[in-house]
Amino acid sequence: MSGCPKRVLNGPCGGMKPDGSCELGDRQCIFSEKYPSKVVLDHGFRFRPEIRRRQSFTKLLAEVEERAVWIAEIPPSAKAFDDIELLRGLSFTALSVPENPLARLHIEPAVFTQLLKERLGCELMIHLTCRDLSRLAIKSRILAMGLCGLEHILALTGDHPKLGREESAPVFDLDSIRLIYLARIMSDYGVDELGNKLQLKPRIQVGAGLNPYLPLDIEVSRTLRKLEAGAEFFVTQLIFDAEPVKRALKKLRESGVNVPVFIGFLVAEDEVIRKTAEIIGIPGADIPRDPEKLIEEYLETVEELRRLYGPVGAFISTLGRIGNFKLWDRAFRSYFMSS
Ligand code: SF4
Repeated sequence: MSGCPKRVLNGPCGGMKPDGSCELGDRQCIFSEKYPSKVVLDHGFRFRPEIRRRQSFTKLLAEVEERAVWIAEIPPSAKAFDDIELLRGLSFTALSVPENPLARLHIEPAVFTQLLKERLGCELMIHLTCRDLSRLAIKSRILAMGLCGLEHILALTGDHPKLGREESAPVFDLDSIRLIYLARIMSDYGVDELGNKLQLKPRIQVGAGLNPYLPLDIEVSRTLRKLEAGAEFFVTQLIFDAEPVKRALKKLRESGVNVPVFIGFLVAEDEVIRKTAEIIGIPGADIPRDPEKLIEEYLETVEELRRLYGPVGAFISTLGRIGNFKLWDRAFRSYFMSS
C-alpha cells in the first residue's frame, strides 16, 4: 500500500495511535478513515484455502477456558537468562518471548525460547514479526519451531526500526494478517503459500495482537479479519485503564467472537509504567501508584472480563525484571487459587 511505511495491506497496524495518527510521526495512518473489510493477500499467495477453526491442542488454550491463567513475558537477554531460575515454581502456564521488542536489539528469540523450554519444560509462545524477516525466513523459523515442539506463535507486524533508533533496513514483506494466514496454511495443510509441500507440518497455535485503545469499529474489523486469517487467540496491548478493554471485549462477544484473550499488564515501578503509557500513546491514564493496588486492579479486571466475555487470562510483562513476577504470582495465587 503506497504511503504506509510498513507496506501493510491489512491495515491499520497496531502502531496506529488512539487519535488515528501513525506511530512514525504526526501524519494520519492511511487506514484511519478507510480499511479493508476482508483479508487481503498479495500475488505471492498462490495457495489460498479457507481456514477453519480447529480444536485447541495446548495446555494454555485448554486451561484458559476453565480458569484464569497467566503468561510471563521474558524479553530475551543474557540477564533474563541468568535470572531464569527465579521463575521455577511460579504459577504461570506459559512463557512468551518477544522479538527485538520496540525495535531494540535483543538475543535471537527462537534459540532463547528453545533454551527456556529445555530449562523449565513449560509451554512457550514466540513473537514472530514482519519487521526483520522475509517470508522465506519466516517460513524457515516456523518449521524450526515445529521441529523443536514450540507451541504458540504471536503474529505481529512489529515496530518500525526507526522507533528503536535502529538503522537496520525494515523488511515488512508481510503484515500480521498475511503472517497469521501463512502460519495456519503451514500448520493445517503442511504446505506453504506457494502450494509447496513442507518437510514437516508444524503443530503450532497462532495468536494475534489486539489493541483496545484503537477506535472500536477499527479494532473490531481488525480482529474479525485476523480470525478470518486463522487467529486462535489474542494478546492485548498493555492495558492501563480497564474501560477500553471491557468495551472492546463486550463488542467482540456481541459479534460472536469467543476465542481466548490474554490481557497485557505491566508490573513495574511507577515511573516505568507512566513512561510506557506515554510511549504507547495513553498519557495521563488513571493508574494507581501503589504496586499492590495496581495488581489488585489488574486481577479484578481479569475476573470481570471472564464474566463479561469468557476465556480471559493475563499476559504479564515486567520489561525484563524477572524478580517482579514473584509479586504478581503471590497476588494471583491469593486471588484465583486460594479456595
Ligand atoms: S500506523 Fe501502521 S498501518 Fe498506519 S500508516 Fe503507520 S505503519 Fe502504516
